[in-house]
Amino acid sequence: MPTEPETTLFGRIARREIPAQIVFQDEDITAFRDVNPAAPVHILIIPNKTIRTLNDATQEDERLLGKIMLTAQRLASELGIADSGYRIVMNCNHDGGQSVYHLHFHLLGGRRLTWPPG
Ligand code: AMP
Repeated sequence: MPTEPETTLFGRIARREIPAQIVFQDEDITAFRDVNPAAPVHILIIPNKTIRTLNDATQEDERLLGKIMLTAQRLASELGIADSGYRIVMNCNHDGGQSVYHLHFHLLGGRRLTWPPG
């Protein structure tokens, strides 16, 4: 669990200080249901440690980021959307639409998603 003095909303969810519907957690990452789902399946996958945006990830995080992708793959299968299809979204900074400054990947599925995004 993160020990950094910098506290983020999602860091507090990872430490279970704020309630969330956690669907997976290990020593590196936490996955939980988005409180305002944009699709029937909408999971957020985060590193437990504080990384504010993708811009703040470093070479040291290479394995962590790969693990997040493979966790998304596994959760998609477990949640029954692997074959129908899904989307992974990561919003970075203001123009990307990021609203919570703790790196997170959206796993969206369970309906036909439109393209391009707005
Ligand atoms: P983004 O706009 O990419 O930063 O996405 C932030 C996401 O976090 C949004 O989809 C919100 O609905 C979601 N969110 C915000 N607060 C919470 C919370 N306490 N628990 C679960 N999801 C949250």
